[in-house]
Amino acid sequence: MPQAPNRNKEPSFRESVDMMFNRAVALMDLSPGLEEKIRVCNATYTVRFGVRLRGTIHTFTGYRSVHSEHMEPVKGGIRYAMGVNQDEVEALAALMTYKCALVEAPFGGAKGGLRIDPREWEEHELEQITRRFAYELAKRDLIHPSQNVPAPDMGTGEREMAWIADQYRRMNTTDINAAACVTGKPLNAGGIQGRVEATGRGVQYALQEFFRHEEDKKAAGLEGKLEGKRVIVQGLGNVGYHAAKFLRDEDGAIIIGIIERDGALFDEKGLDVEAVHKWIASHGGVTGYPDATYHADGAATLEAACDILIPAALEGVINMSNADRIKAPLIIEAANGPVTAGADEILRDKGCVIIPDLYANAGGVTVSYFEWVKNLSHIRFGRMQRRQEETRHQLVVDELERLDRYLGDAWTMTPTFKEKYLRGADELELVRSGLDDTMRIAYQSMREVWHSREDVRDLRTAAYLVAIGKVAASYRAKGL
Ligand code: NAD
Repeated sequence: MPQAPNRNKEPSFRESVDMMFNRAVALMDLSPGLEEKIRVCNATYTVRFGVRLRGTIHTFTGYRSVHSEHMEPVKGGIRYAMGVNQDEVEALAALMTYKCALVEAPFGGAKGGLRIDPREWEEHELEQITRRFAYELAKRDLIHPSQNVPAPDMGTGEREMAWIADQYRRMNTTDINAAACVTGKPLNAGGIQGRVEATGRGVQYALQEFFRHEEDKKAAGLEGKLEGKRVIVQGLGNVGYHAAKFLRDEDGAIIIGIIERDGALFDEKGLDVEAVHKWIASHGGVTGYPDATYHADGAATLEAACDILIPAALEGVINMSNADRIKAPLIIEAANGPVTAGADEILRDKGCVIIPDLYANAGGVTVSYFEWVKNLSHIRFGRMQRRQEETRHQLVVDELERLDRYLGDAWTMTPTFKEKYLRGADELELVRSGLDDTMRIAYQSMREVWHSREDVRDLRTAAYLVAIGKVAASYRAKGL
């Protein structure tokens, strides 16, 4: 197994993940047997099934890969894309293992994929295909609340998760925990507030945490706050749209570039993310959007000068052919595997700081974890505590109002204090608070390793060290 990439050959996605893993374990004291056990993918199931559509039978190929069962259920999204293949699904499953370990979500790693272009099919056809795929996986326990819990990924969303949950329920009519067989469901089908935007929200929280640390900003040659930072986003889908929207609207970042399949939009003064998103929804791409400069060669915009680059579409977009032209001093990997192992070395040598995928996009699985817990406990978060919390806060407010009357003009309550303080946290607030806490703690665990060990030169290696250490501890506890 090579330790460093051959600079003449681009590694595949799975080779990239293996190389990053190898780079980290070379700095650890694991037995070779345990190292191999953690690295390899436990099993990949390939299924080919036929669905009668438009008068003929169409055969589809799907995968569900289980990388590590050191904790169960295993967890990982289902992707719908034409590029889906075994190598990709296995790489994504491995990333899930490390991601869950890093953010302390109690799952093993898995991933699924279906080789399909969802845009080619009508909604009712997609439902038939999804239900059949779900049936094939569920009958082998590859969808199961206590063994294997999928979630959305590229090309899938709430709608597909609702079909999967319903299919599982039809096959397991007496399973009281059926809703927990998949996460990312719509609210009215057992979902949780804040899941749709969770991955993008996590990217925002990750950047907020990065900007709290002077030493880390200095490593990237940046200073100040997120406010005013120039950002380029690739992929205005679920993850990219929410990340760009929150960074612009809540942190004051300037989204100067948006790259999509059909080209890129650029405006040094800042793009209106909401307007671009609406345009894409109604026109199928960014082409023709009136209020920005359009570049047909979208990928070239990855190389434009900016402060933060957010690849949020697919893997391998920053590779050995363009890495040395990337100007961003900070890259946050909202997508899985957007920087190949070869490009990673080139960028690190240039001084670019990369916030790695296994941390950066962990917001999705974190909130999926909350949803799974909600489904198993059969109660919405906050339902028991909210009014009681408000009653206790009312006691404090009553006392303050008494003081207010007593002190007269010498002291008065801030006008909005009462309203804000009295309101008990609802589910969305609790989800956001849990996600923010998770992203902060995980970042701190990585940066501590990054700054305390001379042999750890980047955040990615640090993230792998933390994650692999946790997986290894879990295997050791099982006596392996
Ligand atoms: P999505 O399908 O909602 O969005 C992907 C976007 O990328 C689309 O707008 C698409 O048009 C665009 N795109 C596709 N190919 C492109 C190209 N060549 N150039 C530019 N843009 C292109 O998918 P998503 O759920 O946002 O996932 C994006 C990435 O984030 C994937 O790598 C996925 O694995 C990762 N991720 C997603 C989640 C989640 O909760 N959805 C969680 C963790 C990681």
